Amino acid sequence: MFSLKSYSLCTFVTCGALITPSAHAKVLDSVETNLAKARTCLEAERYQEAQAYAELTLLPRIVTYSANNDLLGIARASLKTWEDALGGQVSFVECPWYDASLKFDFRPKLSFYGRDVLGLATTRRAVQNWCGDFRTVLTGSIEVSTFLPNGDSASYVVMLSTAVHEVGHFLGLDDTAHRGSLMGPISTQKPTLAPQASELAALTSVRQQAGMVALFAELQGTGLISQ
Ligand SMILES: [Zn+2]
Repeated sequence: MFSLKSYSLCTFVTCGALITPSAHAKVLDSVETNLAKARTCLEAERYQEAQAYAELTLLPRIVTYSANNDLLGIARASLKTWEDALGGQVSFVECPWYDASLKFDFRPKLSFYGRDVLGLATTRRAVQNWCGDFRTVLTGSIEVSTFLPNGDSASYVVMLSTAVHEVGHFLGLDDTAHRGSLMGPISTQKPTLAPQASELAALTSVRQQAGMVALFAELQGTGLISQ
């Protein structure tokens, strides 16, 4: 079994902290790694394995989700943002907690290695080999703090901004230092509620590449085309 588990630590800014300039949009290293593995498997004519790795980037057409309390509406709204942004390429469907691939957990306090954070995304992307039958495993948990680190309640908009940001990680985007971008530091004063064009372009590009690998692997695997 090959497994990549990634944590995305999401910090926030409330004042003019010095930010190092960086790219406005970036794909997670784990996603790039899976895409590279998909290409390697395709070249080695391991078509089903190539498809499985490509699907880790593409995600299933339907992803099930659930939330732990009455803030389910925020989870719903954050997913709707991404469904619209991706033009329906991925659909999120609500289901009972124990069946959900993506779980939202809203808590009063959230910390990671002793540091207060507004949100945390944990995603497990894996390909399992069941006696030559390769299967994709993709699960995620999104934690959102209902309070700010200073003790004030987090507003609906800040929690929604955090949730949309964390779903961006689940879909494959990394953090950037670019303030004002969805995947930049989360702002409590000017929350960003949707991906910017550059972020959508980065995600779309990697999804298209994975889609091409999956398509070639499927066609070559079924003998419809040959190299
Ligand atoms: Zn983040």
